Amino acid sequence: MSQQPSEALDRPHRLVVLAGPTAVGKGTVSAYVRDHFPEVWLSVSATTRAPRPGEQEGVHYHFVDEPEFARMERDGELLESAVVHGQNHYGTPRHPVEAALAAHRMALLEIDLQGARQVRASMPEALFVFLAPPSWDELVRRLVGRGTEDEEERNRRLETAKVEMAAEDEFDVTVVNDDVRRAAQELVSLMRSH
Ligand code: 5GP
Repeated sequence: MSQQPSEALDRPHRLVVLAGPTAVGKGTVSAYVRDHFPEVWLSVSATTRAPRPGEQEGVHYHFVDEPEFARMERDGELLESAVVHGQNHYGTPRHPVEAALAAHRMALLEIDLQGARQVRASMPEALFVFLAPPSWDELVRRLVGRGTEDEEERNRRLETAKVEMAAEDEFDVTVVNDDVRRAAQELVSLMRSH
């Protein structure tokens, strides 16, 4: 069903869940959407990961410690949550998503595969978009080229990416990230056309 218009594309989708393998450029594509399509509301995830240089609290993530993340989970404040790359906790704060949808905004969640599956269970009306690399070799190049992880971490992420690539068929539609601007425009046109 990937890359083919599926039945899911016939329904209105103000909520789009974007997932895909590690290093495919989900963050870059969603940053492009944030900067160029202000009509789209972007969910800001909570994470226990430390900020990378240049990352801002409340813009890229809500950076929280483990006890605070556990509290958010316990109190039902997260729409979905997952441990990504076997390391840090990530989760989508529930209320902002509900508020954006109540305000009739187009909303975009950029999350990992485990999270996407949880959202599918609770919000099946969303459109699930798989962001794919042009090829596996290109994905490896992007992961190595990013240079933000050490070798052990890189290998861990490549293992995760292999499993994630196999999940493409679970999604309603595939967008190939051959070019950030083009991929972002395709993503937004999927939201706009409904
Ligand atoms: P990074 O640490 O590179 O920013 O993100 C690592 C992974 O975590 C990415 O695959 C990203 O999509 C995923 N991620 C970011 N926010 C969330 C979230 O709220 N929930 C889930 N399940 N995954 C997330």
